Amino acid sequence: MKNIALVGIGKIAVDQHVPALMASDDWALTATVSRVGTVDGVPAFTDFDAMLAAHSQISVISLCLPPVPRFAYAARAIAAGRHVMLEKPPGATLAEVQLLSTLAAQADVTLFATWHSRMARGVAAAKAFLSDKTITKVEITWHEDVRRWHPGQSWVFEPGGMGVFDPGINALSIMTEILPMPVYLQNAVLRVPENCQTPIQAELQFSNNVHASFDWLKQGDQQWDITVHTQSDEVTLLDGGNRCVMNGVPSTQTSLDEYPALYARMAQLIDEGQSDVDLSPMIHVADAMACGQREMVDPFHF
Ligand code: NAP
Repeated sequence: MKNIALVGIGKIAVDQHVPALMASDDWALTATVSRVGTVDGVPAFTDFDAMLAAHSQISVISLCLPPVPRFAYAARAIAAGRHVMLEKPPGATLAEVQLLSTLAAQADVTLFATWHSRMARGVAAAKAFLSDKTITKVEITWHEDVRRWHPGQSWVFEPGGMGVFDPGINALSIMTEILPMPVYLQNAVLRVPENCQTPIQAELQFSNNVHASFDWLKQGDQQWDITVHTQSDEVTLLDGGNRCVMNGVPSTQTSLDEYPALYARMAQLIDEGQSDVDLSPMIHVADAMACGQREMVDPFHF
């Protein structure tokens, strides 16, 4: 059993990380670090360095903070010889994550930049099916209501918060996992509320006839779908990758939910002495932020 500490006890820690760890025989949630949040029955710290000093048996740190404050914690954890698991997106900038990779390799610890949507139940089947196909068209639709899924989380509209790319990068993590060829951004339109620093809607056109539509103002039915056309087939991933339909027929799904699968992968990486840091979804977001045409839209308030 591996001793682990969770840092940043907020929405995703409570919704997913804590239940996944508590249900696993492979992990012991041994401490938390958060300024406010705690987990019943688990020793709680507000100071990260104090936790590291007090619990030398904790070999793994899982960082559930928003991206901007995450680098400093990750660097300190690696310097203290601990393995590190990063929530998505792995950081605020590409260079800081590349530096973390270097630091982890030098310290001989595992760094896992997680992409939870890649573990969604239908993704592996779609990837396997598409591996030898010629893709003719891809349509990605990620339309959700930010007020429902990120209530009051103002950091998403601050620099480094990524705006609608916070969920949109999940779609891009699936896209880069399942497509058998690389694609690159050709143009993008980013709609930015006049009181925000990050987009609330985005339309991305990639090479190879791949299009993505991200909308954070969707009311009513929510939609997280990817449809891939090949010369003779149609593969659709529904519900954020959790259901795969091939030519109208539901496919076999993987057995684990996303977060149990992430922690199983983390345990495997540690046991094998490996790291897993794939920046490709974040490169597409950085390209959109660099090259996208900005349109100012109505102010946004939670
Ligand atoms: P959150 O609830 O707003 O923040 C998580 C925790 O981080 C907070 O409770 C806070 O804990 C700590 N924190 C926030 N700002 C901080 C700062 N400047 N310095 C130190 N600690 C800070 O966010 P979240 O929704 O859990 O998202 C966290 C990460 O998980 C993001 O990268 C997000 O993309 C990813 N994620 C979120 C979801 C989701 O549905 N929300 C799903 C999958 C992945 P304290 O105030 O107690 O210190």
